[in-house]
Amino acid sequence: MAGHKTQMLLDTEAERLLKDILEKKAAGRITAKERSAIPVQEMPAQDPAARGKNVSEVALGYGEAQARLEAERCLGCKNQPCVTGCPVAVPIPQFIAELQKGDFKAAANIIKETNLLPSVCGRVCPQEKQCQAECTLGKMLKDIDQAVAIGRLERFAADWERDNGQVTIPAVKPATGKRIAVIGSGPAGLTVAADTAREGHAVTILEAFHKPGGVMVYGIPEFRLPKAIVQAEVDNLAKMGVTIETNFLAGRTGTIAGMLDKSGNDPLRNGYDAVFIGVGAGLPKFLGCPGENLVGVMSANEYLTRANLMKAYDAEKAATPMYRSKITAVIGGGNVAMDAARMALRLGSQEVHVIYRRTRDEMPARAEEVSHAMEEGIVFDFLRNPVRFTGDGEGRVTGMELLKYELGEPDDSGRRSPVAVKGSEYMYNCDTVIVALGNESNPLLARTTENLTADKRGRIVVDETQKTSLDRVYAGGDIVLGAATVILAMGEGRRAAAAINKLLA
Ligand SMILES: Cc1cc2nc3c(=O)[nH]c(=O)nc-3n(C[C@H](O)[C@H](O)[C@H](O)COP(=O)(O)OP(=O)(O)OC[C@H]3O[C@@H](n4cnc5c(N)ncnc54)[C@H](O)[C@@H]3O)c2cc1C
Ligand code: SF4
Repeated sequence: MAGHKTQMLLDTEAERLLKDILEKKAAGRITAKERSAIPVQEMPAQDPAARGKNVSEVALGYGEAQARLEAERCLGCKNQPCVTGCPVAVPIPQFIAELQKGDFKAAANIIKETNLLPSVCGRVCPQEKQCQAECTLGKMLKDIDQAVAIGRLERFAADWERDNGQVTIPAVKPATGKRIAVIGSGPAGLTVAADTAREGHAVTILEAFHKPGGVMVYGIPEFRLPKAIVQAEVDNLAKMGVTIETNFLAGRTGTIAGMLDKSGNDPLRNGYDAVFIGVGAGLPKFLGCPGENLVGVMSANEYLTRANLMKAYDAEKAATPMYRSKITAVIGGGNVAMDAARMALRLGSQEVHVIYRRTRDEMPARAEEVSHAMEEGIVFDFLRNPVRFTGDGEGRVTGMELLKYELGEPDDSGRRSPVAVKGSEYMYNCDTVIVALGNESNPLLARTTENLTADKRGRIVVDETQKTSLDRVYAGGDIVLGAATVILAMGEGRRAAAAINKLLA
């Protein structure tokens, strides 16, 4: 694409500017105005023309000069508004100050005081709604895109530490003899495992799938979050002594009552002192319109799980290879819809359309994901929604009837609501439909566990310490919040671990 700058070119440009800034600093002459005049550092990315054909990561990460230059944009505000915007209160100005000095290891250490998964969060957190939304620089320049690129800097520090073999495994206190079962290995479960293992407790993670990592592994695609990064975090837990048991479906393979039963003699299923439930929100929502059960109509969950976890893109080797689509229609406007659409492109679909009831302004997806999808050639059909799906004589989807919408008054979410245009239905051809309308809680554990309280939407109810209605049983992440974010799941994991450590002290 015209104007595409390589990682090396961007870093070389940054090196030149950085030299001037460091000279000014050495002479004690740098002002806040000069800092604010440093251009925000562009994230190097794969060329859009090439990346739609591979599953490798799109954003390539800052080089050292870019990271140091971006760090120099930080004003080191005394009131630290960015920290207030971070759900786990990472000491942001402090880690950025270490990057300014070029001490990348020290920067990573500071981040890890409060964030267990900085390489993940630096890539997938909605920083534009959190820390960066509060950044003084962005406010001064009246443009959120001009805020200090905190997420990119977090990613740089964490990647630098891992790539340079500098990761230190947290120290573990002497064994307490207490046992904890962590059900689910998403960000909530991994956080609880790390924080309780540090205290010397024996932790076993029980995971339903054959690979640990939760949505970070089977939902968020490789081109946004390389799986090797999640695996490295899981490996670190194993080095701390955490046992990881896969293919264990709690509620079926073993029950919560059984786990807390001290008289049972199966060490995997019995004899734990506390249980944490972090099973996420894995139940996809559907439209509920006719034809939704046709072959070729599937949830984004199924599509992404087959692509990510079962490597369906490898038609030669995959046990369940994916149908090679001609026209794929993705229904929805969130991050999951963007991931599914961009994955469909990489799986060889000739055309990929996103069908959304409102317009770009109301889309819940991150702005960066939408522009990446647009750059890659994904077509956005706004202000329409399916009424029914049509099939051939053999039960395979051939298209759908779409109804047009216009924007009305704002609804409870504050976004303008979609209003159907009467009589505007028309037919639309496609051979694959991916429904990406979000997820709800998986009801299995609430149904199989007596006296475990869940609300109407199946979310497990907890108190301020993440304790459920059952003694010794805690829960956190999407199973409590509904489909939320990695950092919020980790925050809940932190709170639950603190309560479990207190209980077992
Ligand atoms: C496609 C997609 C893209 C997303 N993109 C982003 C993003 O860019 N940024 C962001 O912050 N968030 C994103 N999210 C949301 C984020 O991934 C979740 O909020 C987060 O992973 C929730 O963490 P968790 O630990 O609660 O659960 P999960 O990550 O869902 O992990 C739960 C684990 O529990 C296991 N499990 C379920 N039931 C059982 C059982 N009965 N027994 C044993 N194990 C069980 C599951 O297999 C899974 O491994 C995305 C979600 C999806 C689906
Ligand atoms: S608000 Fe922005 S400029 Fe101020 S300390 Fe935080 S990152 Fe730096």
